[in-house]
Amino acid sequence: MTNPIVRFTISTRLLLLIGIIAVGMGGILHLSTIYIRDALFDKYIEQTQHLVQTAYSLLTQCADKITTEGASLEEAQTCAITLIGNLRYGKDEYFWINNMDGVMLVHPLKGMAGKNIFDDKDITEKYLTRSVIDIVKKYGEGHDTYYWPPNEKNAKMKISYFMGFPKWGWIVGTGTYVEQIETEINDILIKLISAASFLVLISLLIASIIGRSISKPIVDLNGVMRELAAGNLDIDVKPNSRMDEIGSMAQTVQIFVENARRIARIETEKSDMENMKSEFISVVSHELRTPLTSIRGALGLIAGTMAKDMPEKAAHLIQIAYINCDRLMTLINDLLDIDKAAAGELHFDMRHEKLAPIMSQAIETNRSYAEKYFVRLSCDPLPDSIEVNVDKARLLQVLSNLLSNAAKFSPAGGKVRLYAETDTENVRINVSDYGLGIPEEFRSRVFQKFSQAESSSTRKKGGTGLGLHISKNLVELMGGQIGFDSTVGLGSTFWVEFPMIKHGAKT
Ligand code: ADP
Repeated sequence: MTNPIVRFTISTRLLLLIGIIAVGMGGILHLSTIYIRDALFDKYIEQTQHLVQTAYSLLTQCADKITTEGASLEEAQTCAITLIGNLRYGKDEYFWINNMDGVMLVHPLKGMAGKNIFDDKDITEKYLTRSVIDIVKKYGEGHDTYYWPPNEKNAKMKISYFMGFPKWGWIVGTGTYVEQIETEINDILIKLISAASFLVLISLLIASIIGRSISKPIVDLNGVMRELAAGNLDIDVKPNSRMDEIGSMAQTVQIFVENARRIARIETEKSDMENMKSEFISVVSHELRTPLTSIRGALGLIAGTMAKDMPEKAAHLIQIAYINCDRLMTLINDLLDIDKAAAGELHFDMRHEKLAPIMSQAIETNRSYAEKYFVRLSCDPLPDSIEVNVDKARLLQVLSNLLSNAAKFSPAGGKVRLYAETDTENVRINVSDYGLGIPEEFRSRVFQKFSQAESSSTRKKGGTGLGLHISKNLVELMGGQIGFDSTVGLGSTFWVEFPMIKHGAKT
Protein backbone atom coordinates (compact mmCIF):
# COMPACT_ATOMS: atom_id res chain seq x y z
CA MET A 1 0.00 0.00 0.00
CA THR A 2 1.50 3.31 -1.01
CA ASN A 3 1.77 6.09 1.52
CA PRO A 4 -0.33 9.11 0.51
CA ILE A 5 1.89 12.20 0.16
CA VAL A 6 1.79 14.30 3.33
CA ARG A 7 1.95 17.83 1.97
CA PHE A 8 1.58 19.91 5.12
CA THR A 9 2.99 18.26 8.18
CA ILE A 10 2.01 19.56 11.60
CA SER A 11 5.55 20.95 12.04
CA THR A 12 5.29 22.80 8.71
CA ARG A 13 1.99 24.32 9.81
CA LEU A 14 3.44 25.40 13.15
CA LEU A 15 6.47 26.89 11.39
CA LEU A 16 4.13 28.65 8.98
CA LEU A 17 2.26 30.08 11.96
CA ILE A 18 5.49 31.31 13.50
CA GLY A 19 6.42 32.78 10.10
CA ILE A 20 3.14 34.69 10.01
CA ILE A 21 3.72 35.88 13.59
CA ALA A 22 7.28 36.94 12.63
CA VAL A 23 5.97 38.92 9.65
CA GLY A 24 3.34 40.48 11.93
CA MET A 25 6.04 41.37 14.44
CA GLY A 26 8.08 42.91 11.63
CA GLY A 27 5.09 45.06 10.71
CA ILE A 28 4.55 46.11 14.32
CA LEU A 29 8.28 46.87 14.61
CA HIS A 30 8.14 49.02 11.50
CA LEU A 31 5.14 50.98 12.83
CA SER A 32 6.88 51.30 16.21
CA THR A 33 9.96 52.73 14.49
CA ILE A 34 7.86 55.42 12.85
CA TYR A 35 6.13 56.15 16.14
CA ILE A 36 9.41 56.15 18.14
CA ARG A 37 11.08 58.42 15.57
CA ASP A 38 8.22 60.94 15.78
CA ALA A 39 8.17 60.75 19.55
CA LEU A 40 11.95 61.21 19.81
CA PHE A 41 11.88 64.18 17.46
CA ASP A 42 9.07 65.73 19.51
CA LYS A 43 11.09 65.08 22.66
CA TYR A 44 14.22 66.71 21.22
CA ILE A 45 12.29 69.71 19.97
CA GLU A 46 10.68 70.12 23.37
CA GLN A 47 14.03 69.80 25.16
CA THR A 48 15.62 72.32 22.80
CA GLN A 49 12.66 74.63 23.34
CA HIS A 50 13.22 74.49 27.12
CA LEU A 51 16.91 75.21 26.65
CA VAL A 52 16.15 78.19 24.39
CA GLN A 53 13.66 79.44 26.98
CA THR A 54 16.50 79.35 29.55
CA ALA A 55 18.80 81.37 27.26
CA TYR A 56 15.89 83.72 26.55
CA SER A 57 15.42 84.39 30.28
CA LEU A 58 19.14 85.30 30.53
CA LEU A 59 18.61 87.66 27.61
CA THR A 60 15.65 89.24 29.40
CA GLN A 61 17.70 89.61 32.59
CA CYS A 62 20.44 91.48 30.68
CA ALA A 63 17.86 93.68 28.93
CA ASP A 64 16.23 94.41 32.29
CA LYS A 65 19.57 95.79 33.52
CA ILE A 66 18.81 98.94 31.45
CA THR A 67 15.80 99.74 33.58
CA THR A 68 16.88 98.22 36.89
CA GLU A 69 20.57 99.13 36.96
CA GLY A 70 20.60 102.05 34.47
CA ALA A 71 22.91 100.10 32.14
CA SER A 72 23.31 101.30 28.57
CA LEU A 73 21.90 99.27 25.64
CA GLU A 74 25.42 98.38 24.61
CA GLU A 75 26.28 97.14 28.12
CA ALA A 76 23.07 95.13 28.31
CA GLN A 77 23.76 93.57 24.89
CA THR A 78 27.39 92.80 25.76
CA CYS A 79 26.12 91.11 28.95
CA ALA A 80 23.74 89.00 26.87
CA ILE A 81 26.37 88.10 24.26
CA THR A 82 28.90 87.13 26.96
CA LEU A 83 26.46 85.12 29.08
CA ILE A 84 24.76 83.29 26.23
CA GLY A 85 27.96 82.92 24.22
CA ASN A 86 29.57 81.02 27.11
CA LEU A 87 26.53 78.89 27.85
CA ARG A 88 27.07 75.15 27.14
CA TYR A 89 25.06 71.97 27.67
CA GLY A 90 25.29 68.29 26.67
CA LYS A 91 28.44 67.42 24.74
CA ASP A 92 29.60 71.02 24.31
CA GLU A 93 26.36 72.16 22.68
CA TYR A 94 25.99 75.97 22.36
CA PHE A 95 23.46 78.76 21.69
CA TRP A 96 23.57 81.19 18.80
CA ILE A 97 22.14 84.65 18.35
CA ASN A 98 21.61 86.54 15.15
CA ASN A 99 19.63 89.66 14.29
CA MET A 100 16.73 90.05 11.89
CA ASP A 101 19.16 91.11 9.14
CA GLY A 102 20.92 87.77 9.26
CA VAL A 103 24.07 88.96 11.07
CA MET A 104 25.44 86.30 13.42
CA LEU A 105 26.02 87.94 16.83
CA VAL A 106 26.90 84.84 18.87
CA HIS A 107 28.35 81.61 17.49
CA PRO A 108 31.33 79.53 18.67
CA LEU A 109 32.39 78.62 15.13
CA LYS A 110 35.51 80.47 14.11
CA GLY A 111 34.77 83.48 11.90
CA MET A 112 31.05 83.00 12.23
CA ALA A 113 30.36 85.73 14.82
CA GLY A 114 29.81 89.06 13.04
CA LYS A 115 29.16 87.36 9.72
CA ASN A 116 26.00 88.10 7.74
CA ILE A 117 24.57 84.75 6.61
CA PHE A 118 21.27 86.16 5.34
CA ASP A 119 22.06 85.01 1.81
CA ASP A 120 23.79 81.74 2.77
CA LYS A 121 22.25 78.53 1.54
CA ASP A 122 22.67 74.98 2.83
CA ILE A 123 23.45 71.98 0.56
CA THR A 124 19.75 71.64 -0.34
CA GLU A 125 19.80 75.25 -1.57
CA LYS A 126 17.75 76.38 1.41
CA TYR A 127 18.21 79.95 2.74
CA LEU A 128 18.41 78.75 6.28
CA THR A 129 18.69 82.14 8.01
CA ARG A 130 15.86 83.62 5.97
CA SER A 131 13.69 80.60 6.84
CA VAL A 132 14.41 81.08 10.59
CA ILE A 133 13.68 84.84 10.36
CA ASP A 134 10.40 84.16 8.52
CA ILE A 135 9.23 81.72 11.23
CA VAL A 136 10.10 84.22 13.99
CA LYS A 137 8.32 87.02 12.15
CA LYS A 138 5.26 84.84 11.77
CA TYR A 139 5.06 82.99 15.11
CA GLY A 140 7.59 84.65 17.39
CA GLU A 141 9.33 81.28 17.90
CA GLY A 142 9.53 77.82 16.32
CA HIS A 143 11.75 75.09 15.00
CA ASP A 144 13.33 74.32 11.65
CA THR A 145 15.63 71.77 10.03
CA TYR A 146 18.56 72.57 7.75
CA TYR A 147 22.10 71.44 6.95
CA TRP A 148 24.76 73.13 9.05
CA PRO A 149 27.18 74.85 8.36
CA PRO A 150 25.93 76.57 5.20
CA ASN A 151 27.87 76.35 1.94
CA GLU A 152 29.65 73.21 3.07
CA LYS A 153 29.49 69.84 1.34
CA ASN A 154 29.85 67.71 4.48
CA ALA A 155 27.24 69.71 6.40
CA LYS A 156 24.98 67.68 8.66
CA MET A 157 21.27 67.95 9.21
CA LYS A 158 20.31 69.90 12.29
CA ILE A 159 17.03 70.54 14.01
CA SER A 160 16.93 73.86 15.86
CA TYR A 161 14.58 75.73 18.12
CA PHE A 162 14.65 79.56 18.30
CA MET A 163 12.83 82.49 19.83
CA GLY A 164 12.66 86.08 18.68
CA PHE A 165 13.63 88.91 21.11
CA PRO A 166 11.70 91.74 19.47
CA LYS A 167 13.03 94.42 21.79
CA TRP A 168 16.50 94.17 20.22
CA GLY A 169 15.47 92.48 16.95
CA TRP A 170 17.45 89.40 17.94
CA ILE A 171 16.84 85.67 17.57
CA VAL A 172 18.31 83.21 20.06
CA GLY A 173 18.42 79.51 19.30
CA THR A 174 20.13 76.16 19.67
CA GLY A 175 20.00 72.92 17.77
CA THR A 176 20.78 69.22 17.75
CA TYR A 177 22.28 67.21 14.94
CA VAL A 178 19.66 64.80 13.53
CA GLU A 179 22.44 62.20 13.33
CA GLN A 180 22.46 62.13 17.11
CA ILE A 181 18.71 61.46 17.23
CA GLU A 182 19.12 58.75 14.55
CA THR A 183 21.82 57.09 16.64
CA GLU A 184 19.47 56.99 19.60
CA ILE A 185 16.64 55.62 17.41
CA ASN A 186 18.98 52.97 16.02
CA ASP A 187 20.01 51.95 19.53
CA ILE A 188 16.37 51.44 20.46
CA LEU A 189 15.69 49.64 17.19
CA ILE A 190 18.60 47.25 17.62
CA LYS A 191 17.32 46.37 21.08
CA LEU A 192 13.77 45.84 19.75
CA ILE A 193 14.93 43.74 16.79
CA SER A 194 17.18 41.64 19.02
CA ALA A 195 14.31 41.01 21.44
CA ALA A 196 11.91 40.17 18.57
CA SER A 197 14.43 37.87 16.86
CA PHE A 198 15.10 36.13 20.15
CA LEU A 199 11.36 35.63 20.62
CA VAL A 200 10.93 34.28 17.07
CA LEU A 201 13.89 31.93 17.52
CA ILE A 202 12.55 30.62 20.82
CA SER A 203 9.09 30.22 19.24
CA LEU A 204 10.61 28.33 16.30
CA LEU A 205 12.43 26.03 18.66
CA ILE A 206 9.31 25.42 20.77
CA ALA A 207 7.19 24.95 17.60
CA SER A 208 9.57 22.38 16.22
CA ILE A 209 9.69 20.53 19.56
CA ILE A 210 5.87 20.58 19.81
CA GLY A 211 5.56 19.64 16.11
CA ARG A 212 7.85 16.66 16.57
CA SER A 213 6.17 15.58 19.78
CA ILE A 214 2.80 15.57 17.96
CA SER A 215 3.77 14.26 14.55
CA LYS A 216 6.24 11.54 15.57
CA PRO A 217 3.68 9.46 17.54
CA ILE A 218 1.06 10.13 14.84
CA VAL A 219 3.46 8.86 12.18
CA ASP A 220 4.12 5.77 14.35
CA LEU A 221 0.39 5.17 14.82
CA ASN A 222 -0.16 5.68 11.11
CA GLY A 223 2.48 3.03 10.47
CA VAL A 224 0.63 0.61 12.75
CA MET A 225 -2.67 1.30 10.96
CA ARG A 226 -1.00 0.77 7.57
CA GLU A 227 0.48 -2.53 8.69
CA LEU A 228 -2.98 -3.53 9.91
CA ALA A 229 -4.53 -2.50 6.60
CA ALA A 230 -1.90 -4.60 4.84
CA GLY A 231 -3.03 -7.57 6.96
CA ASN A 232 -0.13 -7.69 9.45
CA LEU A 233 -1.94 -8.34 12.73
CA ASP A 234 1.26 -9.08 14.69
CA ILE A 235 2.05 -5.39 14.99
CA ASP A 236 1.64 -3.68 18.36
CA VAL A 237 1.37 0.00 19.32
CA LYS A 238 4.55 1.09 21.12
CA PRO A 239 3.83 1.55 24.85
CA ASN A 240 3.02 5.20 25.43
CA SER A 241 2.72 6.86 28.81
CA ARG A 242 1.44 10.20 27.50
CA MET A 243 -1.54 11.58 29.37
CA ASP A 244 -2.84 13.66 26.47
CA GLU A 245 -4.98 13.13 23.35
CA ILE A 246 -2.16 11.25 21.62
CA GLY A 247 -1.76 8.85 24.55
CA SER A 248 -5.50 8.24 24.43
CA MET A 249 -5.35 7.76 20.66
CA ALA A 250 -2.54 5.20 21.06
CA GLN A 251 -4.67 3.27 23.55
CA THR A 252 -7.64 3.37 21.17
CA VAL A 253 -5.47 2.12 18.29
CA GLN A 254 -4.17 -0.72 20.48
CA ILE A 255 -7.80 -1.68 21.28
CA PHE A 256 -8.48 -1.51 17.54
CA VAL A 257 -5.51 -3.83 16.89
CA GLU A 258 -6.78 -6.30 19.49
CA ASN A 259 -10.30 -6.17 18.01
CA ALA A 260 -8.90 -6.76 14.53
CA ARG A 261 -7.04 -9.82 15.86
CA ARG A 262 -10.21 -11.10 17.54
CA ILE A 263 -12.25 -10.58 14.37
CA ALA A 264 -9.57 -12.35 12.32
CA ARG A 265 -9.65 -15.27 14.78
CA ILE A 266 -13.45 -15.44 14.56
CA GLU A 267 -13.25 -15.27 10.74
CA THR A 268 -10.78 -18.15 10.66
CA GLU A 269 -12.92 -20.19 13.02
CA LYS A 270 -15.99 -19.37 10.94
CA SER A 271 -14.34 -20.35 7.70
CA ASP A 272 -13.01 -23.56 9.31
CA MET A 273 -16.55 -24.36 10.41
CA GLU A 274 -17.92 -23.51 6.94
CA ASN A 275 -15.37 -25.88 5.43
CA MET A 276 -16.27 -28.62 7.89
CA LYS A 277 -19.97 -28.07 7.21
CA SER A 278 -19.50 -28.19 3.44
CA GLU A 279 -17.34 -31.28 3.74
CA PHE A 280 -19.91 -32.93 5.96
CA ILE A 281 -22.77 -32.10 3.56
CA SER A 282 -20.70 -33.29 0.64
CA VAL A 283 -19.81 -36.62 2.29
CA VAL A 284 -23.38 -37.24 3.48
CA SER A 285 -24.84 -36.36 0.07
CA HIS A 286 -22.45 -38.70 -1.69
CA GLU A 287 -23.12 -41.50 0.74
CA LEU A 288 -26.89 -41.01 0.51
CA ARG A 289 -27.15 -40.84 -3.25
CA THR A 290 -26.39 -44.49 -4.08
CA PRO A 291 -28.79 -46.12 -1.58
CA LEU A 292 -31.40 -43.46 -2.33
CA THR A 293 -31.16 -44.18 -6.07
CA SER A 294 -31.85 -47.85 -5.49
CA ILE A 295 -34.69 -47.13 -3.01
CA ARG A 296 -36.22 -44.68 -5.52
CA GLY A 297 -35.84 -47.26 -8.34
CA ALA A 298 -37.44 -49.97 -6.25
CA LEU A 299 -40.30 -47.73 -5.12
CA GLY A 300 -40.85 -46.54 -8.71
CA LEU A 301 -41.00 -50.13 -9.88
CA ILE A 302 -43.47 -51.08 -7.16
CA ALA A 303 -45.61 -47.97 -7.75
CA GLY A 304 -45.60 -48.54 -11.51
CA THR A 305 -46.07 -52.29 -11.87
CA MET A 306 -47.30 -53.83 -8.61
CA ALA A 307 -49.59 -51.13 -7.25
CA LYS A 308 -52.66 -52.64 -8.88
CA ASP A 309 -52.12 -55.91 -6.93
CA MET A 310 -51.87 -54.10 -3.59
CA PRO A 311 -54.48 -52.89 -1.22
CA GLU A 312 -55.37 -49.29 -2.11
CA LYS A 313 -53.98 -47.92 1.19
CA ALA A 314 -50.61 -49.63 0.67
CA ALA A 315 -50.41 -48.39 -2.93
CA HIS A 316 -51.14 -44.85 -1.71
CA LEU A 317 -48.37 -45.10 0.90
CA ILE A 318 -45.91 -46.41 -1.73
CA GLN A 319 -46.85 -43.45 -3.98
CA ILE A 320 -46.18 -40.95 -1.12
CA ALA A 321 -42.85 -42.66 -0.34
CA TYR A 322 -41.89 -42.49 -4.01
CA ILE A 323 -42.73 -38.75 -4.25
CA ASN A 324 -40.77 -37.94 -1.08
CA CYS A 325 -37.86 -40.05 -2.25
CA ASP A 326 -37.90 -38.04 -5.45
CA ARG A 327 -37.76 -34.77 -3.47
CA LEU A 328 -34.90 -36.07 -1.38
CA MET A 329 -33.07 -37.02 -4.58
CA THR A 330 -33.56 -33.49 -5.95
CA LEU A 331 -32.21 -32.03 -2.70
CA ILE A 332 -29.15 -34.28 -2.74
CA ASN A 333 -28.47 -33.48 -6.39
CA ASP A 334 -28.76 -29.76 -5.58
CA LEU A 335 -26.30 -30.13 -2.70
CA LEU A 336 -23.86 -32.01 -4.88
CA ASP A 337 -24.18 -29.31 -7.58
CA ILE A 338 -23.35 -26.61 -5.03
CA ASP A 339 -20.42 -28.66 -3.83
CA LYS A 340 -19.09 -29.09 -7.34
CA ALA A 341 -19.63 -25.42 -8.21
CA ALA A 342 -17.67 -24.39 -5.09
CA ALA A 343 -14.87 -26.76 -6.04
CA GLY A 344 -14.95 -25.54 -9.66
CA GLU A 345 -15.80 -29.05 -10.82
CA LEU A 346 -19.07 -28.36 -12.63
CA HIS A 347 -18.67 -29.29 -16.27
CA PHE A 348 -20.54 -27.53 -19.03
CA ASP A 349 -21.20 -28.76 -22.51
CA MET A 350 -21.28 -25.32 -24.12
CA ARG A 351 -22.84 -25.09 -27.60
CA HIS A 352 -24.61 -22.58 -29.80
CA GLU A 353 -28.23 -23.44 -29.11
CA LYS A 354 -31.47 -22.08 -30.53
CA LEU A 355 -33.32 -20.48 -27.65
CA ALA A 356 -36.94 -21.03 -28.79
CA PRO A 357 -36.92 -24.86 -28.44
CA ILE A 358 -35.25 -24.66 -25.01
CA MET A 359 -37.96 -22.29 -23.80
CA SER A 360 -40.74 -24.54 -25.17
CA GLN A 361 -39.14 -27.57 -23.56
CA ALA A 362 -38.91 -25.75 -20.22
CA ILE A 363 -42.64 -24.99 -20.43
CA GLU A 364 -43.49 -28.59 -21.28
CA THR A 365 -41.33 -29.98 -18.45
CA ASN A 366 -43.01 -27.76 -15.85
CA ARG A 367 -46.58 -27.75 -17.11
CA SER A 368 -47.79 -30.63 -14.92
CA TYR A 369 -46.00 -29.14 -11.87
CA ALA A 370 -47.79 -25.82 -12.48
CA GLU A 371 -51.13 -27.55 -12.87
CA LYS A 372 -50.80 -28.82 -9.31
CA TYR A 373 -51.03 -25.15 -8.28
CA PHE A 374 -53.74 -24.45 -10.89
CA VAL A 375 -51.37 -22.13 -12.70
CA ARG A 376 -51.16 -21.80 -16.48
CA LEU A 377 -47.76 -21.49 -18.15
CA SER A 378 -47.44 -19.63 -21.46
CA CYS A 379 -44.51 -18.92 -23.77
CA ASP A 380 -44.29 -16.02 -26.25
CA PRO A 381 -43.10 -17.06 -29.69
CA LEU A 382 -39.46 -16.28 -30.47
CA PRO A 383 -37.66 -16.11 -33.83
CA ASP A 384 -35.75 -19.30 -34.56
CA SER A 385 -32.67 -17.30 -35.37
CA ILE A 386 -31.91 -16.34 -31.77
CA GLU A 387 -29.08 -18.46 -30.42
CA VAL A 388 -27.02 -18.48 -27.27
CA ASN A 389 -23.83 -20.24 -26.19
CA VAL A 390 -24.96 -22.44 -23.27
CA ASP A 391 -25.10 -25.91 -21.84
CA LYS A 392 -28.67 -26.75 -22.85
CA ALA A 393 -29.37 -29.09 -19.93
CA ARG A 394 -28.08 -26.50 -17.42
CA LEU A 395 -30.13 -23.68 -18.97
CA LEU A 396 -33.18 -25.94 -18.82
CA GLN A 397 -32.40 -26.58 -15.14
CA VAL A 398 -32.29 -22.82 -14.51
CA LEU A 399 -35.51 -22.06 -16.44
CA SER A 400 -37.25 -24.96 -14.69
CA ASN A 401 -36.27 -23.51 -11.34
CA LEU A 402 -37.60 -20.05 -12.29
CA LEU A 403 -40.82 -21.45 -13.77
CA SER A 404 -41.49 -23.77 -10.83
CA ASN A 405 -40.88 -20.93 -8.37
CA ALA A 406 -43.20 -18.64 -10.37
CA ALA A 407 -45.93 -21.31 -10.37
CA LYS A 408 -45.37 -22.09 -6.69
CA PHE A 409 -45.70 -18.45 -5.64
CA SER A 410 -48.69 -17.64 -7.91
CA PRO A 411 -52.29 -17.70 -6.67
CA ALA A 412 -54.53 -20.54 -7.89
CA GLY A 413 -55.82 -19.68 -11.37
CA GLY A 414 -52.80 -17.45 -12.00
CA LYS A 415 -50.62 -17.18 -15.09
CA VAL A 416 -46.88 -17.40 -15.62
CA ARG A 417 -45.39 -15.96 -18.78
CA LEU A 418 -42.05 -16.94 -20.33
CA TYR A 419 -40.76 -14.52 -22.94
CA ALA A 420 -37.51 -13.20 -24.39
CA GLU A 421 -36.36 -9.67 -25.24
CA THR A 422 -33.32 -8.73 -27.30
CA ASP A 423 -31.14 -5.72 -27.80
CA THR A 424 -28.21 -5.50 -30.18
CA GLU A 425 -25.94 -7.59 -27.95
CA ASN A 426 -27.95 -9.67 -25.50
CA VAL A 427 -31.05 -11.72 -25.09
CA ARG A 428 -32.95 -11.61 -21.83
CA ILE A 429 -35.29 -14.48 -20.90
CA ASN A 430 -38.01 -13.38 -18.47
CA VAL A 431 -40.28 -15.43 -16.23
CA SER A 432 -43.15 -13.23 -15.01
CA ASP A 433 -45.72 -14.13 -12.44
CA TYR A 434 -48.55 -12.22 -10.75
CA GLY A 435 -48.00 -13.71 -7.33
CA LEU A 436 -46.76 -12.64 -3.91
CA GLY A 437 -43.72 -10.64 -4.98
CA ILE A 438 -40.45 -10.57 -3.02
CA PRO A 439 -40.51 -8.66 0.29
CA GLU A 440 -38.13 -5.66 0.33
CA GLU A 441 -36.07 -6.96 3.28
CA PHE A 442 -35.48 -10.33 1.60
CA ARG A 443 -34.28 -9.04 -1.78
CA SER A 444 -30.59 -8.90 -0.93
CA ARG A 445 -30.63 -12.56 0.18
CA VAL A 446 -32.69 -14.11 -2.62
CA PHE A 447 -29.67 -15.77 -4.25
CA GLN A 448 -28.05 -16.91 -1.01
CA LYS A 449 -27.84 -20.57 -0.05
CA PHE A 450 -30.82 -21.93 1.97
CA SER A 451 -32.57 -18.58 1.95
CA GLN A 452 -36.32 -18.32 1.89
CA ALA A 453 -38.58 -15.33 2.57
CA GLU A 454 -39.88 -15.36 6.12
CA SER A 455 -43.58 -15.43 5.18
CA SER A 456 -45.71 -18.29 6.38
CA SER A 457 -47.03 -18.83 2.86
CA THR A 458 -43.47 -19.35 1.55
CA ARG A 459 -42.75 -21.90 4.24
CA LYS A 460 -45.98 -23.69 3.44
CA LYS A 461 -44.96 -24.02 -0.22
CA GLY A 462 -41.92 -26.09 0.75
CA GLY A 463 -38.60 -26.00 -1.04
CA THR A 464 -35.02 -25.83 0.14
CA GLY A 465 -33.85 -22.31 -0.69
CA LEU A 466 -31.13 -23.76 -2.93
CA GLY A 467 -32.68 -23.41 -6.41
CA LEU A 468 -31.89 -19.74 -7.04
CA HIS A 469 -28.40 -20.05 -5.55
CA ILE A 470 -27.63 -22.93 -7.95
CA SER A 471 -29.26 -21.05 -10.86
CA LYS A 472 -27.05 -18.00 -10.21
CA ASN A 473 -23.93 -20.19 -10.15
CA LEU A 474 -24.91 -21.96 -13.36
CA VAL A 475 -25.84 -18.77 -15.25
CA GLU A 476 -22.67 -16.96 -14.24
CA LEU A 477 -20.44 -19.94 -15.02
CA MET A 478 -22.02 -19.97 -18.51
CA GLY A 479 -21.15 -16.27 -18.93
CA GLY A 480 -24.61 -14.84 -18.28
CA GLN A 481 -26.35 -12.74 -15.66
CA ILE A 482 -29.37 -13.32 -13.47
CA GLY A 483 -31.65 -10.90 -11.64
CA PHE A 484 -35.20 -9.97 -10.81
CA ASP A 485 -37.71 -7.13 -10.52
CA SER A 486 -40.54 -7.49 -8.08
CA THR A 487 -43.45 -5.57 -6.60
CA VAL A 488 -44.96 -6.98 -3.42
CA GLY A 489 -48.55 -8.09 -4.07
CA LEU A 490 -48.25 -7.63 -7.84
CA GLY A 491 -45.70 -10.26 -8.82
CA SER A 492 -42.13 -10.83 -9.88
CA THR A 493 -40.10 -11.15 -13.03
CA PHE A 494 -36.95 -13.25 -12.78
CA TRP A 495 -34.59 -12.95 -15.75
CA VAL A 496 -31.45 -14.47 -17.16
CA GLU A 497 -29.38 -12.73 -19.80
CA PHE A 498 -26.79 -14.09 -22.26
CA PRO A 499 -24.83 -12.57 -25.10
CA MET A 500 -26.63 -13.29 -28.35
CA ILE A 501 -24.78 -15.28 -31.03
CA LYS A 502 -24.37 -12.99 -34.03
CA HIS A 503 -25.49 -14.34 -37.36
CA GLY A 504 -22.56 -15.75 -39.25
CA ALA A 505 -20.55 -16.50 -36.08
CA LYS A 506 -19.14 -20.04 -35.97
CA THR A 507 -19.52 -22.67 -33.21
P1 ADP B 1 -37.05 -22.63 -2.90
O1 ADP B 1 -37.99 -22.20 -3.96
O2 ADP B 1 -36.70 -24.04 -2.97
O3 ADP B 1 -37.38 -22.12 -1.54
P2 ADP B 1 -35.25 -20.87 -4.29
O4 ADP B 1 -33.79 -20.60 -4.10
O5 ADP B 1 -35.69 -21.24 -5.65
O6 ADP B 1 -35.64 -21.92 -3.21
O7 ADP B 1 -36.03 -19.58 -3.84
C1 ADP B 1 -35.64 -18.94 -2.67
C2 ADP B 1 -36.80 -18.11 -2.11
O8 ADP B 1 -37.01 -16.98 -2.97
C3 ADP B 1 -38.13 -18.79 -2.09
O9 ADP B 1 -38.29 -19.59 -0.92
C4 ADP B 1 -39.08 -17.59 -2.06
O10 ADP B 1 -39.17 -17.06 -0.75
C5 ADP B 1 -38.38 -16.60 -2.96
N1 ADP B 1 -38.88 -16.67 -4.35
C6 ADP B 1 -38.27 -17.27 -5.41
N2 ADP B 1 -38.99 -17.07 -6.53
C7 ADP B 1 -40.08 -16.35 -6.19
C8 ADP B 1 -41.23 -15.83 -6.90
N3 ADP B 1 -41.40 -16.02 -8.22
N4 ADP B 1 -42.16 -15.13 -6.20
C9 ADP B 1 -42.00 -14.93 -4.87
N5 ADP B 1 -40.94 -15.38 -4.14
C10 ADP B 1 -40.01 -16.10 -4.78
